[in-house]
Amino acid sequence: MNYIDTHCHIYMDRFDGDRDAVIQRAIDNGVERMICIGVDLPSSEKCLNIAEKHPQVFATAGIHPHEAKDVPHRYLHELEQFYQHPKVVAVGEIGLDFHYNFSDEKEQIAVYLEQLELATSVGLPTVVHCRESDDEILNGIIESKNGNGVIHCFASTLAFSQQILKTGFHLSFTGLITFVNALEDVVKETPLNRMMLETDSPYLAPKPYRGKRNEPQYVKQVAEKVAKLKNMSVEDVVSQTTHTAELFFEKLK
Ligand SMILES: [Zn+2]
Ligand SMILES: [Zn+2]
Repeated sequence: MNYIDTHCHIYMDRFDGDRDAVIQRAIDNGVERMICIGVDLPSSEKCLNIAEKHPQVFATAGIHPHEAKDVPHRYLHELEQFYQHPKVVAVGEIGLDFHYNFSDEKEQIAVYLEQLELATSVGLPTVVHCRESDDEILNGIIESKNGNGVIHCFASTLAFSQQILKTGFHLSFTGLITFVNALEDVVKETPLNRMMLETDSPYLAPKPYRGKRNEPQYVKQVAEKVAKLKNMSVEDVVSQTTHTAELFFEKLK
């Protein structure tokens, strides 16, 4: 099997004690590649360090909406430096989170739009976080005319998923689909050539690991749920979503 965990945060302190073992367990279970997602400048740097050490790990660099309030003045310039690196595959994660509102909504929107523009100028896809901010996320995509992104950890309605797919964006799914029944129709209606799989480790462990620290090897449970919902083999789901991820993240080689 050739799984890709397209979204994990294995730079976090929670993996400091056993990071190499976590990565090895993933590899041993068929996860050939993992994308370590940064949420601010320091974490993006950590992701890159891990990617430089492990051939199977790739990195992104970006400012998460939670961190929008703390961005340094020249953050766009600093982010740009990352994208020169062959293992930095996307701008992200960026987006809007009006559930927690750790940053003011206006600040979040400004930083989201600036990074969509940045992604266009550096020619990389974006990884977008969207929580209780569907309208503003969609407006940003349309205004920026940047349809080269993915809504990660998709957790909204079928109607929103259809609007997002129309823009050219992809959807990626986490372990949420193993226990949130409302997402079943979205998974069924999303074609595999627009779908990717992720864990969002250490968050959102799938059934039967709910409540535990999540890790990249559990992308398997996400694939199994998709296979069940689409009435397909796990092998087909994995090979097709992996192909989708390879086309989407062009630097993922
Ligand atoms: Zn997120
Ligand atoms: Zn994330």
